Formats: sequence, C-alpha cells, structure tokens
Amino acid sequence: MSKIIRKRQKVITILIVFIVVFISYLILAHVNSNVFKFIRNNNNNFDTVFIITVDTLRKDHVSFYGYPYKTTPFIDMISKTGTVFENAYTVSSHTAPSHTSMFTGLYPSNHGVLRNHDSLANDIYNIKKHFEKNGFKVAGFPATNFLEGKISFDSIKDKYNDVVKGKQGWFLTASQNIERAKAWLTKETSKNDKIFFWLHLYDAHQWQKRGRMDEKYFKTIDELKKDNTYYDYQINKLNIPLEFYNSKDDLLEKIATYDAKIKMINDTLLDFFQFIINKRKGGKFLIILTSDHGEGLGNHNYDSHGKYLYNEQIKVPLVFWSNTKLIPQKREDSFISSIDLFATIVDLVNIPLSSDELKNQDGISYKDIITNDSNHNLYEKRKFCISERRPKDETELRKSWIDGRVNCIVDKKGKYIYNEKGKDEFFDLENDSFELSNIISDKQSLANSYNKKLSYETSKFKSVDIKNQNLTPKEVKELKALGYL
Ligand SMILES: [Zn+2]
Repeated sequence: MSKIIRKRQKVITILIVFIVVFISYLILAHVNSNVFKFIRNNNNNFDTVFIITVDTLRKDHVSFYGYPYKTTPFIDMISKTGTVFENAYTVSSHTAPSHTSMFTGLYPSNHGVLRNHDSLANDIYNIKKHFEKNGFKVAGFPATNFLEGKISFDSIKDKYNDVVKGKQGWFLTASQNIERAKAWLTKETSKNDKIFFWLHLYDAHQWQKRGRMDEKYFKTIDELKKDNTYYDYQINKLNIPLEFYNSKDDLLEKIATYDAKIKMINDTLLDFFQFIINKRKGGKFLIILTSDHGEGLGNHNYDSHGKYLYNEQIKVPLVFWSNTKLIPQKREDSFISSIDLFATIVDLVNIPLSSDELKNQDGISYKDIITNDSNHNLYEKRKFCISERRPKDETELRKSWIDGRVNCIVDKKGKYIYNEKGKDEFFDLENDSFELSNIISDKQSLANSYNKKLSYETSKFKSVDIKNQNLTPKEVKELKALGYL
C-alpha cells in the first residue's frame, strides 16, 4: 500500500514540477517578448538626427557607388553599415528649390521656392516646424548666403562669426560651416536635448578653381592627374567630351579639382563625426546624407546644373545610417524622390506626420521599405520620379536658356523630358544610360505614355496651367475620363 502511495506522490511531484516549469516558461517568454519589444521600440527614439547635403555631388563620383577613385572613404564606411538608395532623384537641379523640397515634401511648383534667394512662405509646414513641435532643438547650417534664413530654418548669420576662422565670402567652406555646427552643439545643446539639424557643404560646387581649399589637397589633384587610368575613365566610362575643355590638361585639372574637393568634404565630415559621437556619447543617431543635385562636368555640353534634367544632374546619392538596429545594412533599389525625405525621416524618428499633414504632402514615407517591416506589402513605393527645371531668367547665366517649363519623368526603363517651348526628348535608359540618343520619333507610342503620366502628375502642380502642357483636347478628355483631371 505504502508503495502505491509513494508512487502517487512521485507522480504528483513530477506533475507539480512540470506545471511550475511550464508556467515559468510562459512568464519568461512573456518577459522576453516585452524586452524584445522594448529594444525594438527604443530603437525608434532617436535623439540625434541630422541631414547632410553635399551640394553638387554627382552620384557617379562617389566611391561607394562604384567610382574607382577614393573620393569618399569615410562616407563609404557609413554606407557599408547603412541603407544606400540606388535610385534616388532630386526634384530640381537647382540648390534652393531642391533643398526646400527635401524640407517640405513638396514639388518646387507647390512650395514656390523656384530660384536661389526665394523665401519659403511662412504658412508652409516643414521639417523644422515638425521637429520643433515634437520637442527637438533645431538648427540649420546652410553654407551659402542665399539659403540663410530663407528655406524654413532660422537665420544664424553672424551668430558664430567668432568661431569661423579664415576668409568668409558668400559661402563658407566645409570646415568653416562645421565650426558653426560644433559651436551650436557646444553652446546651445546639452546631452539631454533631442536635436535635429541640417548641415550643408558647398565646396564641390566651386570645382572649376582650386581656390579656398586646403593646400594639402593639391597633392590629391596631382596624384589623380598622374594616374594613367583617370583620364580614360572620364572619357570612356563617364562620357565626358574632351572638346568641351580647352585641352586634356584643362579637363584633368578641373575634374581632379572636383574630386579633391569631394575628398576634402569627406575628411571634414570624418572630423565632425568624431566630434559629435564623442559629444553625444550613448546617443541614438539617425543620419541622412544626400545631395541637392549633380553636375554637368561637360556631359550634354554643359558644365553646371539647373539648365537640364539629365541624370548627371538629377540622380543623387542617398544614405540612411544609424548606430541602432533600426536602419539595416543594404542596397535599396526602389525609386525614391527628394520629396519623400520629410515624411520618411520623421516616420523613422517615430514622430510621423498626421494623416492631415500627409494629405498636404507630395512625398511619402519609406520607413517600411528601409526597416524591412514585414507588414509592408513589398511593392515599390514609387514607380517613377518627376523633376522640374528651374525657370529661365535674364541673368547672364540663364539668358541662353530656352524659355518655358521643362519637366521630366524617369523610371527604370526610360525618361521623358517635356519642353514647353523646345523639343521634347525620350531616352531608353536601359541601352542609353548617358541619354545621348533622343528616340522620341522612333518610339512614339511608348514616349506618349510617359508624356501622359508626366502631364497628369504636373497638372496637380499649383502654378501649372494644364493648357500649357502639350495635351490635345482629346487627351484632356481621356485623362478626365480616367479620373486624372
Ligand atoms: Zn546646389
């Protein structure tokens, strides 16, 4: 009998142990999932957010996009642990409209800043207002006078004159502007503040001359010029026409100066990163690096930007980086426009735009694409990007431009450029990445479908009169029937 009792007791003990283990397992699993959630959520609480715009940075001169000369070794390191967009387009190849579109999420025609020196209307919602509303300390460090205090960020002109060393002209060099950013971080922020700022680096814009660059980069120019592969790369891989320059040496000197200035910016950024990472130890960083536009450098017989909408001017580098796990390391193929930056950045920081605010946006959030959110439906957000050319005016630089509106639509396969008073163009980007051969008359119906999409998109622009687009009354009727107009 006692044997049976002992056996029962043993079974009961085993059962109790099993139940205790099982309940403990459930409790632990619950705690673990909460801990996991806490870590995930906490990753969103960025307290150090900044956007760096490297003015006039052509995507194909950046080494992490395949340029074989090491122009951006530090930024390459960032790119290796961040999300790099392969198909990022700016909405304008002109400085003020392009930046204003990043900060407002609107096309230039919709925010109204069409030229440098224009000011953004006070009632237009923007990234600076949004971060401030959400408790961040905010500052903008534009390197040029014509952006100072005009495109959403308050003017800080003359505020940090005491820290800016060397000659100040109409623009500040990368190291001078970074001195201002360092002074702001030191004097006006503490480690407990959440901060958001914009840092603009202008030196590459002034690539035609060596002026205002640290002399140690003269060596970089000379080394590039001596490299036997360098000239061939410019001519054969980047399609730069020698005849655009006075001589082979003129071409080499100017392009190598462009690359050396990019390298100088890269090195100054490394210095700044060391400073801010030390200053905000333990901080959760989100950094966005991009450009407002590229540069002609002689392609399409043009050495500047603003006049055309070819890819060397509107395709830009774009990297998201963080020291948290939220931003994965990857190369992202989706098309993204500079108007998407506002909605994307604030969404990543966990202060998304409200549904009412989103209604007023031209841009959309790419948070789920960047973070590989399993809830997103894995379709590409944007099938194409749209850009607008800066309007012509009577200044010396723009006197020769063809008047009228110029817009373009670009997707993976092609690009259509609508030219109100000039010739429209259509390019097969799969076989003609340099946009050399206008095939509009050979591919009429395909070109037409691009033009219709473009007309529909630009018809939503505030300042565009649909009559100015090349639509026949029949096409207007068609678009109306489709609900487009
Ligand atoms: Zn610019």
